[in-house]
Order: sequence, then C-alpha cells, then structure tokens
Amino acid sequence: MRKKQKDWAKDMAYQRMHLLFELADHEFRTHPELSNRYAGLARRIGMRYRVRMPPELKQRICKHCHAYLVQGVTARTRLQGTHITTTCTVCGKQMRRPY
Ligand SMILES: [Zn+2]
Repeated sequence: MRKKQKDWAKDMAYQRMHLLFELADHEFRTHPELSNRYAGLARRIGMRYRVRMPPELKQRICKHCHAYLVQGVTARTRLQGTHITTTCTVCGKQMRRPY
C-alpha cells in the first residue's frame, strides 16, 4: 500500500512539473518573469516529492539562477568539442553536458 501511494505521488509530481513547463512556455512571450516563477515551482515540486526532474525539463532551467531558458532568447546552445554548452543570457553562466 505504501509503495503504491509513493508511486502515485511521484507520478503526480511528474505531471505537475510538465504542466508547469507548459504554462511557462505559454506565458513566456507575454510574461517572461512568470515563466521563471513556474520554473522555480517545478523545481520545488521535484524537491518536495524527491523526484528527479526529467532531463528534457532540467535542461530548460538555468542551473545557476534557475531562470526559464528558451533557445535563442534566454539561452544560447553551442557545440564545443565533446560537449553541448548552453549559456544562460540572464546570468551569463554556462552549463555543459556531453553528447
Ligand atoms: Zn542563469
């Protein structure tokens, strides 16, 4: 029973995170500051339910200032040798991941 409850909570956490990112995406054009708030909420849900943020969502939040990243607007992505480098234009810091 306990395990089932935990699975259910995790599933709900994932759904909420995806929903928040959808909202952030939707609001970005009109209210970019709201997108950052949604991104922050999604991050907190992940911590509250102790679930990892799905990788496709994780790369859309700045690791340093937690801003919502939109390619070409608040983020620049470049290939650098064996890494993909994403630069946050809000704080100017870089996140690297191998490919
Ligand atoms: Zn940043």
